[in-house]
Amino acid sequence: MSGSALFETFARAPLAFERGEGSWLIAENGERYLDFAGGIAVNSLGHGHPHLVQALTEQAGKLWHVSNLYEIPGQSRLGERLAANSFADRAFFTNSGAEALECAIKTARRYQYKNGHPERYRIITFEGAFHGRTLATIAAGGQAKYLEGFGPKVEGFDQIAFDDIDAAEKLIGPETAAILLEPVQGEGGIRPFPTASLKRLRELCDKHGLLLIFDEVQCGVGRTGKLFAYEWSGVSPDLMAIAKGIGGGFPMGACLATDEVASAMTAGVHGTTFGGNPLAMAVGNAVLDVVLEDGFLEEVSRKALLMKQGLAAIVDEYPDVIAEIRGTGLMLGLKCTMPNTKVNMALRDQKLLAVPAGENVIRLLPPLTTSDADIQEALERIRAGAASLSKAAANGG
Ligand SMILES: *Cc1c(COP(=O)(O)O)cnc(C)c1O
Repeated sequence: MSGSALFETFARAPLAFERGEGSWLIAENGERYLDFAGGIAVNSLGHGHPHLVQALTEQAGKLWHVSNLYEIPGQSRLGERLAANSFADRAFFTNSGAEALECAIKTARRYQYKNGHPERYRIITFEGAFHGRTLATIAAGGQAKYLEGFGPKVEGFDQIAFDDIDAAEKLIGPETAAILLEPVQGEGGIRPFPTASLKRLRELCDKHGLLLIFDEVQCGVGRTGKLFAYEWSGVSPDLMAIAKGIGGGFPMGACLATDEVASAMTAGVHGTTFGGNPLAMAVGNAVLDVVLEDGFLEEVSRKALLMKQGLAAIVDEYPDVIAEIRGTGLMLGLKCTMPNTKVNMALRDQKLLAVPAGENVIRLLPPLTTSDADIQEALERIRAGAASLSKAAANGG
């Protein structure tokens, strides 16, 4: 039944959903699932948020697509708003996270080229990284399982161990253009870079004329309780990729840059057909309307604390199932004691959706709009799932 005319690239759960309401997904058979997977950190405002539905349907009646041959007022507006609320001055809009990263990688190389350093094209990345599935971004991510069988790896990416800043310093050479990292690794297992490490990397970049690129495709747009995760560290990048949360479910992303860096990308050197179309921009602006409302991000932090405290209590009760809680804001990870796939199944049996990640972690990525009641319900379901696994393990199962 699960789509025999489709590529078999996804190991799909045997579930199909028909509707969504806030933190909930309703299956075709009427069963309700608490959605703390959030379409992998995409449904930042949950399902069916009235403001997003209104923005999308209003725009759908007016204009969907015109191409970047013309002015797109919604694009200018979203660019200005992102710039006003970040380190950046300019934005390039894309349809996905990987394309936002491609733009960041090309911009970094082009910036060095324009400044008399065409030899600088290499980018340092960190183990556990995930930057997308295009040929360049699998090279940047460096994971063997994503590179295998796809021909020669795109040249110019050098990977070091997670958070090994000494190794980064040693690796910087005459061909280095930039350092790329996720301030909080997502797929890699919800691993935040320490603030001190980000500060050292910033200093290294400044000293050697390198660009610092942040991939906030997963951790950006309110996920950590600030609009962007880098704000917690006080360390600003020169380039940043965002996607996932900014569209709230509509496919879109952006590459953000300072004026100086963006100026390397002159007319004609890069492009996109769909990126930044009026429909996407209407939704992106609507997401920002909500996330930038007074007090919204403080609420994310308050709810995150509630969730983290509840999860910590479950770790105390069932250390044979969950070893520790990691992460920040509503981007939390359960480091599992038993295989994370088993824990994920047990949560699904409780009708709670979560996402496995590297390092034997289960990701919890609820909508930023989730309620205290939904969080309590999720905690009860996680506790029940952990209890059943703990009991089964004690019985030798
Ligand atoms: C999901 C993700 C990407 C890739 O985004 P796509 O929209 O799937 O191309 C890149 N970087 C990070 C950190 C991600 O989580």
